[in-house]
Amino acid sequence: MLQKTDTKSPEDATISDLGENDQRLGLKCNHCSRFRYMATHRFPPETCVKEIAVSLHCARCGSDDVETFAVSRNSENGYWPAESS
Ligand SMILES: [Zn+2]
Repeated sequence: MLQKTDTKSPEDATISDLGENDQRLGLKCNHCSRFRYMATHRFPPETCVKEIAVSLHCARCGSDDVETFAVSRNSENGYWPAESS
């Protein structure tokens, strides 16, 4: 029998987790380092944040070596990390 654990790592974060944790969806290109936020409303709540990157590519350099992940505010000043294009 497979046992499911309730322990959630950031790797398993879903779209609905982002809303609950006051986080945003970030997209980063590993090829050119472009970093952008993405709108989450077009994804179902149960969508795994990591999985989104699979169907994406970088709008700048066209690489498919991109990552999607949960982004938190800067804990010191409350600001979101800046986008870079
Ligand atoms: Zn790129």
